[in-house]
Amino acid sequence: DVLPTSESADPVVRVEHLAKRFRRRDGSTVDAIDDVSFDVQAGDLVVLLGPSGCGKTTLLRSIAGLETPDDGVISFGDRVQFSPAEGINVPPERRGVSMVFQSYALWPHMTAFRNVAYPLESRGPGRRNKAETAKRVRRALGLVGIPELEQQYAAQMSGGQQQRVALARALVSNDALVLFDEPLSNVDAKVREQLRVELLSLQRELGFAAIFVTHDQSEAMQLGTRIAVLNKGRIVQLASPLEVYTKPANQYVAKFVGTMNEVLGTVTATKGETAEVKTDLGVLTGRIGGGVDIGDHVAAMWRPESATLSTDEPVAANRLAGRVKASLFLGAATEQVITVDGREVRVQVPGAAVLPGGSDVWIEISEADLLVLPAEDA
Ligand code: ATP
Repeated sequence: DVLPTSESADPVVRVEHLAKRFRRRDGSTVDAIDDVSFDVQAGDLVVLLGPSGCGKTTLLRSIAGLETPDDGVISFGDRVQFSPAEGINVPPERRGVSMVFQSYALWPHMTAFRNVAYPLESRGPGRRNKAETAKRVRRALGLVGIPELEQQYAAQMSGGQQQRVALARALVSNDALVLFDEPLSNVDAKVREQLRVELLSLQRELGFAAIFVTHDQSEAMQLGTRIAVLNKGRIVQLASPLEVYTKPANQYVAKFVGTMNEVLGTVTATKGETAEVKTDLGVLTGRIGGGVDIGDHVAAMWRPESATLSTDEPVAANRLAGRVKASLFLGAATEQVITVDGREVRVQVPGAAVLPGGSDVWIEISEADLLVLPAEDA
């Protein structure tokens, strides 16, 4: 019930060397969480991002206490919640966290009011009087913008409305930590966008820390104060959205976060922070984004929006000759699909710039915008 102050020494959540292995029916095993450590500070919204099966949900459920890991330590503030070495495993209802699920998990034949009141009534029987409960429920319904739905049954609501009720239920206990498991993936695009904005402002206003699971990279960028990118049960990068976007730790992160063009090649020279890469499209020079050395097999990568297009051959070192395959007007920008030596490259230019198919163009990429990362085997 008590929010930590920013001066408190302990993070809201600390996860240390967490591990969880599942045994499948056929006897094989999968490391759903593989030696994961991270902290969530007051005011943080940490997004767990990764493709299906990378372990996001298992990690979140372990923090909530709904899953029992094999090893590691989970603490909230100065209280240990899970530590097999110390014989500690606090049950979910006593961890003081709230959770919002993809499926809403509301009681369909209860009103919004009763659904939201439930955590207050089940957690502290007799602790709060009716008037106090009603006040808090109404405040929570007000916060999520649906005070008028108080007496509606959940079954009679739209997906977006149900998710607002679920959010109100998560906020009503005023917990320092709220966990979100893909809460917006069942609502339509417009409502999803609106709920993201509201979630962010609520989080800032109320000051709770949050962990938010998604496989949607643009959602992760919009919401996260930090993004933990997961691959096969491991955190492969934990950084701000800007850093993950501009300095992806490896080829996996670069490909997963946003669109990336990529040409494979071999490093022929390095100089300070730059590397020269021999590719079958010619020599490209870029910024070293990971440990690479001469002779290494690498990927030279760049974003569609960081290249420029011209009809005259540029003098820049990194230039590729191509032909327009399609020109897709997106509204604020136009995406050019360009064929370069048989492969497809995407370049995004601002505004309406539809080019005739078949036009010959030059693509230019600055050294700073070309990222050289170790190539991971497919
Ligand atoms: P999704 O987005 O599809 O939910 P995820 O990233 O949340 O994926 P998890 O659901 O955490 O991934 O699953 C991680 C791995 O653990 C997967 O390989 C999954 O098949 C496996 N797994 C999860 N739960 C169990 C279980 N109860 N029994 C066996 N294997 C499981």
